[in-house]
Amino acid sequence: MTQLSPRLAQATPVIAERGEGCYLYGTDGRRYLDFTAGIGVTSTGHCHPHVVRAAQQQVATLIHGQYTTVLHQPLLELTSRLGEVLPAGLDSVFFANSGSEAVEASLRLARQATGRPNVIVFHGGFHGRTVAAASMTTSGTRFSAGFSPLMAGVHVAPFPTAFRYGWTEQEATDFALRELDYIFATICAPAETAAFVVEPVLGEGGYVPGNTRFFQGLRERADAHGILLVMDEIQTGFGRTGKFFGHQHFGVTPDIITMAKGLASGFPLSGIAASTELMAKAWPGSQGGTYGGNAVACAAAIATLEVIEDEHLVANAAERGTQLLDGARRTAGDAIGDVRGLGLLVGSEFTTDDGKPDRERATAAQQLAAVKGLLLLTCGAHMNVVRMIPPLVVSADQVDTALSIWSDVLTEV
Ligand code: PMP
Repeated sequence: MTQLSPRLAQATPVIAERGEGCYLYGTDGRRYLDFTAGIGVTSTGHCHPHVVRAAQQQVATLIHGQYTTVLHQPLLELTSRLGEVLPAGLDSVFFANSGSEAVEASLRLARQATGRPNVIVFHGGFHGRTVAAASMTTSGTRFSAGFSPLMAGVHVAPFPTAFRYGWTEQEATDFALRELDYIFATICAPAETAAFVVEPVLGEGGYVPGNTRFFQGLRERADAHGILLVMDEIQTGFGRTGKFFGHQHFGVTPDIITMAKGLASGFPLSGIAASTELMAKAWPGSQGGTYGGNAVACAAAIATLEVIEDEHLVANAAERGTQLLDGARRTAGDAIGDVRGLGLLVGSEFTTDDGKPDRERATAAQQLAAVKGLLLLTCGAHMNVVRMIPPLVVSADQVDTALSIWSDVLTEV
């Protein structure tokens, strides 16, 4: 009998049979409160009836229409609907299947548009697992181990992570921007730099929100040198942070946005958005793939946008996010060095008595939570941050239940 690769490290013992709202039902007959949402994907909750209906109807109408051959209605309608939520000026979109592909699309576009070879990424960033995306990922050595050489032209600058250095946010930001200028002056000339690629909140890197001064510093340098600012909104987009896009917390507008995850409630769909003028600089034939912008995924995405609006999920993410972050801060005992987040991205960083990353206790806590019926994940370079990313439909009662389980877990570990 064939078995799943033992290299797939499964975070919980759950075999999911069915999902509904914020719950997953396992083959063990148990109900689990899902605070992982398929890693920030099922924002409308598992199997939202409106999304299910839209997908079912589309399956029976047209499943696939490859967009370099024929356009189709769901693709056109989704394009126009995205125009209502994207920042002004980002009026052109392009679709792929996964987050990594969207990151690669943004990289290709930035290099083609500027004619420059280099990209600057930020320490602790995660951008995916294809070779180019993994080359731009610095949130853990595990993501690029064993398949060097990686893509050339990637330089890494600091992200302002105050907690790690025992600094204030101001000190961390000053340091990050100073180092960026030093990188410009030494190893990566601005005139050879195509793009900054950055997450509004480090996701896999440990749920570290950026800040206004930092992103405005990037925007100023981008404008001064003709560098494109790419915001990787794959984990932070579609309401997750309590605003429609994460960068909207920081008063900057990017040149390119990558999107995936929360876009289509679990159907594989990703994309990039940019100005029409910029998007026109992509070389014909260099972007795209067989399955990008699949008709069923687009129909699910349209329904997802409708649910986000009709059920006020962005506002709910902001309110429930504050409840969750405050609760996690109140509950944190000695084992946790920092609790941080933005909206419904909340991370608790486990540290040892001498301040070192404590992966062992983070893993124990995450696994004990699953036994108690609460699904959580870890993240961070040392996998010592336990993260909570519930569906955006989560209720105040469900947040209280999760916090109560979390409190019991912390007492026991
Ligand atoms: N960028 C960010 C910010 C992500 O969080 C992820 C996925 N965790 C990716 C890119 C890669 O997406 P995918 O796994 O769909 O390739």
